[in-house]
Amino acid sequence: PTQTLVQILHSQGFGVRRACEGLILGGHLRIDGQTLTDPEARIDPQGLSFEVEGRPWLYQDKALILLHKPAGYECSQKASAWPSIMLLLPPPLRHRGVQSVGRLDQDTTGALLLTDDGPLLHKLTSPKHHVPKVYEVTAARPIEDRQITRLLAGVVLDDDPRPVAAQACERTDELHLRLTLTQGKYHQVKRMMAAVGNHCERLHRSAIGNLVLDGGDLPEGQWRFVTDAERAALT
Ligand code: URA
Repeated sequence: PTQTLVQILHSQGFGVRRACEGLILGGHLRIDGQTLTDPEARIDPQGLSFEVEGRPWLYQDKALILLHKPAGYECSQKASAWPSIMLLLPPPLRHRGVQSVGRLDQDTTGALLLTDDGPLLHKLTSPKHHVPKVYEVTAARPIEDRQITRLLAGVVLDDDPRPVAAQACERTDELHLRLTLTQGKYHQVKRMMAAVGNHCERLHRSAIGNLVLDGGDLPEGQWRFVTDAERAALT
């Protein structure tokens, strides 16, 4: 089904109808390299890429984005002790009311999903959902073999008698561990490291399922849209 250009911009968070009209009439909307200035022109938005004020956008019925979270930001709608990760997002995404899928601690860096899709948020944060998440841990003290054995066998944390185990655990050097978890309990990595007698100095989430933050593709503080294929693979 087609929609007017105004409807499309409005649905993507570009403000009230008049503001969207203003953007289009002002020549700020480009599709396929062409400036479109008729707010009532109709197109099918599925899969549409467009530019507003030179910035690329992907039409999404429901937004799903991947943010490379820097340290010093907290995963809350409103900042309290630390500035909110929402400050890292452009206004249209904030207007849409995206929320983080789970949380990373203030001092944790790495992959974080955000969405305004309520059912998807629910699904991805449900304890029944087991997308593997990969964490790069910097330990305070040299990592011992028996600590790795225990992380893989399962450790009991203070809020639940059932042990939690890492799905994979690989020491990359004396002080570094790559840990794959399929649960997401509060402070889980830090608590697991403490439970085996070490301490997590620094924590970075390098992947959520098929979404991998590698190289400088997505630098700290930057975000990108998650494609439909990637979304399908996550759920
Ligand atoms: N585990 C933690 O301890 N902190 C995080 O931010 C994520 C997982």
